[in-house]
Amino acid sequence: MQQVAVLGATGSIGKNTLDVIARHPERYQVFALSGHQNLALLLEQVTQFQPQVVIITSEKHFTREWQARFEQAAPQCDIQLGEQALVEVAKAPSVDIVMAAIVGAAGLKSTLAAAAAGKKLLLANKESLVIAGELMMNAVADSGATLLPIDSEHNAIFQCLPSDYAQQGFNASGIQRVLLTGSGGPFREWPLSELAAVTPQQACAHPNWEMGQKISVDSATMMNKGLEVIEACHLFALSSEQLEVVIHPQSIIHSMVSYVDGSVIAQMGQPDMRTPIAYGLSWPERIDAGVEALDFSQIAQLTFEQPDYQRYPCLQLAFAAFRAQGSAATVLNAANEVAVAAFLAAGIKFTDIAKVNEAALNSLENQFGLDIDGLIQQDHRAREFARDFIKHL
Ligand code: NAD
Ligand code: MG
Repeated sequence: MQQVAVLGATGSIGKNTLDVIARHPERYQVFALSGHQNLALLLEQVTQFQPQVVIITSEKHFTREWQARFEQAAPQCDIQLGEQALVEVAKAPSVDIVMAAIVGAAGLKSTLAAAAAGKKLLLANKESLVIAGELMMNAVADSGATLLPIDSEHNAIFQCLPSDYAQQGFNASGIQRVLLTGSGGPFREWPLSELAAVTPQQACAHPNWEMGQKISVDSATMMNKGLEVIEACHLFALSSEQLEVVIHPQSIIHSMVSYVDGSVIAQMGQPDMRTPIAYGLSWPERIDAGVEALDFSQIAQLTFEQPDYQRYPCLQLAFAAFRAQGSAATVLNAANEVAVAAFLAAGIKFTDIAKVNEAALNSLENQFGLDIDGLIQQDHRAREFARDFIKHL
């Protein structure tokens, strides 16, 4: 029986994780759950899974009434508050598996703690690799943690690589290129002139995937693919030239690896996050994820295009940030989190997101050093810069 901590349980990835876990009560027990503001859902989850620990990170939402309800629903459950509780649970000796499913930089410290504690770490929180990729990968190497990518593309790449890839590396594995696919989002065919008028609701309506709001907006700008480029380069020790982004609107192929002999290995499946989640939970075995097999008689076509940087300037910014090294990716990620939140609050236009990100990336040099405290300071500085830039838009 493996004990699982699901950090960000009330989000899209968290819910899908609990769906898979509930199908395998003989293998997995929920040790801890965390939620931020959606206390009603967190209470339901605590009632169903009866964890040892529940963490509420938005303390101001946790009134006495809520406390009474949680205590009644699970009398044995230890209720903890605040970000530090996430870190403690991520490294708790009783925990075997940590699902890092918090969105944004808010997930950084707990994800890093799980990596340093040698856990089996299921990484959905791509932002932590973007902010602190080297520190994360070093923590994993030093502790002997098992890092399994949950992002569907990276999970696909992991499945398409040889099993000794980590020892052999890119060249000795006979790889020609890693092909990272992305749907292109809801505005792939919109006239460029109409993008400024896009509403948050339109941006969040992804054609293939149902996800949280932040990643949905990132998918529409393709900042998500940009963050994934950086994520892939860290996870698989790639240079940006060893990786290519391919637009594939149907999201059936989740990514591919092209080999020097001309073979291309692709991973395919329904656009359903329960597949990579189940793969991460059970690796190197496989378990039922509740996902239907692909029906090829129903798939009319698989198409591919090159990304257009005029339509998706954020994708190009991510390549630039990764090549610049230092804290450039930290800056880009922080500015983007602020810009997306402002767009969702109807404070800026859809097309302003790229402007905020570009300005931050071009304006901020690394000032604070590349240890975790330095990166966090740089993250804060980039947020301030972005908020200020937005005021003057
Ligand atoms: P979501 O918005 O649906 O859920 C986010 C979770 O994080 C919630 O449980 C929320 O309570 C928690 N949270 C939010 N702010 C917090 C804070 N300040 N402190 C602590 N917890 C906080 O997001 P999601 O779509 O589930 O995405 C989660 C992560 O997984 C993101 O990093 C995203 O990029 C990644 N991811 C998601 C998908 C997907 O299909 N949804 C696919 C690939 C990767
Ligand atoms: Mg993805």
